[in-house]
Amino acid sequence: SLLYRVDGWGAPYFTVNCNGNVSVRPYGVNTLSHQEIDLLKVVKKASDPKDSGGLGLQLPLVVRFPDVLKNRLESLQSSFDFAIQSQGYEAHYQGVYPVKCNQDRFVVEDIVKFGSGFRFGLEAGSKPELLLAMSCLCNGSPEALLVCNGFKDVEYISLALVARKLHLNTVIVLEQEEELDIVINVSRKLGVRPVIGVRAKLRTKHSGHFGSTSGEKGKFGLTTTQILRVVKKLQQYEMLDCLQLLHFHIGSQIPSTALLADGVGEAAQIYCELVRLGACMRVIDIGGGLGIDYDGSKSQDSDISVAYSLQEYASAVVEAVRLVCDRKGVKHPVICSESGRAIVSHHSILVFEAVSTSSHDSPQVSALGLQYFVELLTDEALADYRNLSAAAIHGDYDTCLLYAEQLKQRCIEQFKEGSLGMEQLAAVDGLCELVLKAIGVSDPVRTYHVNLSIFTSIPDFWGIGQLFPIIPIHRLDEKPGVRGILSDLTCDSDGKIDKFIGGESSLPLHELEGNGGVNGDCPAYYLGMFLGGAYEEALGGVHNLFGGPSVVRVSQSDGPHSFAVTRAVPGPSCGDVLRVMQHEPELMFQTLKHRVEEFADDGGSSILALTNGLACCFNNMPYLAAAASCSLTAAAA
Ligand code: PLP
Repeated sequence: SLLYRVDGWGAPYFTVNCNGNVSVRPYGVNTLSHQEIDLLKVVKKASDPKDSGGLGLQLPLVVRFPDVLKNRLESLQSSFDFAIQSQGYEAHYQGVYPVKCNQDRFVVEDIVKFGSGFRFGLEAGSKPELLLAMSCLCNGSPEALLVCNGFKDVEYISLALVARKLHLNTVIVLEQEEELDIVINVSRKLGVRPVIGVRAKLRTKHSGHFGSTSGEKGKFGLTTTQILRVVKKLQQYEMLDCLQLLHFHIGSQIPSTALLADGVGEAAQIYCELVRLGACMRVIDIGGGLGIDYDGSKSQDSDISVAYSLQEYASAVVEAVRLVCDRKGVKHPVICSESGRAIVSHHSILVFEAVSTSSHDSPQVSALGLQYFVELLTDEALADYRNLSAAAIHGDYDTCLLYAEQLKQRCIEQFKEGSLGMEQLAAVDGLCELVLKAIGVSDPVRTYHVNLSIFTSIPDFWGIGQLFPIIPIHRLDEKPGVRGILSDLTCDSDGKIDKFIGGESSLPLHELEGNGGVNGDCPAYYLGMFLGGAYEEALGGVHNLFGGPSVVRVSQSDGPHSFAVTRAVPGPSCGDVLRVMQHEPELMFQTLKHRVEEFADDGGSSILALTNGLACCFNNMPYLAAAASCSLTAAAA
């Protein structure tokens, strides 16, 4: 656990148990009524074949813990409640969840259900997000806010106004000045009095990766001049009472409470000015930005860490709003935040298997191969070979490296010209590797091939270099014997992970037992990527036509393993991902079936077996499957 810094990034939800497996504490504590769940047992339950009591799901697998979600939500609320109470703040906190962080139906439904006791609402940034937010909030608290952000057309604004008609507490936040005219026109047509917010472009700038949203040149929001024009126009139309909310967002992963307080303080000044100008202001919406500590370093100088706790975040926000409002004699506003990353990141774990490692055979050079090889060398290459041998005998490290590299280059040239054969080229590789290994230079880092697509499941690593904690979920009581990087199934050189938390370029890993689980009958080696519950699922694509993972939902229970799988969904099949690119799997299958009937030899049972085998391929997930489950081999046999 120390080696992988689990206590740093994982507390209070993840720990290592006495069996050397990752344990999940869904409520962040371990008491008699709240027990730990052994993650390996969950993976076995999900992936073991049905006839051995499992659910027969294929990996990769997302394991969701709704209880973690509940705990995150309650912790956020209680942090604000505490700050409000202890500072004598005279209004409440009422958050919204930005659905873009994870639009999964069950995640959003859970958040609405768990948060309804404290009026927790939703934020949408597009029309489909608004539709899902509207339908989910029908089961939420009537006071829950439905904040409508993002670029808006007539249809979006009409939908938001219809939501108000349906008694959903909807606020249209102006991101562009032009949206105001549409709001005025459509609300008159529909006969709905809108509730309007403005998104302010703050001067406070967050300098980390996610800070490009902020500052005067940021993509979103209205400048001071534009806000003043909005106020004036609303006044003209006798609608200034509709302006009730001020929104801003200075970027995700705000690194420190100092920067946070600076931004919130600036926004609170704008809020007070809007009150002075006659708007019926009620809510200050501080956007997202509540960060999480991906590497456990509690550092404010890194994009993947933050230097504050939930409580420190909430206290800094409440204090910054209170100070400004008290100075200006303005009634304290309701504080809303749009925290996404901090709510959903912890609740899901991506589990995948390492299926093989790069070859680690001892380099071999046959005496015969070497003799031929020496005879065929040019004079320059022969000189390099002799210098390399002499340097190796003297243990001269730098000279060995120099001549080994030079000799290899010359031999490659000779191979390209046709004066060296493949055996000789292999002999020079073996010789150089042998010498370098003898002087302790050979690269000890192995490549572990993992049954995963990084483009589908960890797109932020590929796209923006975001790091997530990745660790084996078992064998943590065994010292890892090697270091490795992870290479995925896509035929793309970007499909590898060679940067890890803590600035490491490789990960301590255990030797695979035999061939690993997928290709042989040996025990599987499972790895988990943690804290990836936000953003990753919706961003992922279908590169190489790998689709999303299987998903299980796991809740605490009183059963023998202290957990129950309450939902299990296999990932998209080959047919499903083909459909995404406009192929028609049913037609494709018919075409191939005709071909089987035309060309299969015995015309009898083999036609049926091959056709069934093909149908299975369309129905299975695109990831590597156990050899035993290949229906085509069975058919061919
Ligand atoms: N609100 C808005 C307007 C955003 O753009 C974002 C994300 O960037 C969020 C909320 C969520 O931010 P976070 O995930 O940092 O909580």
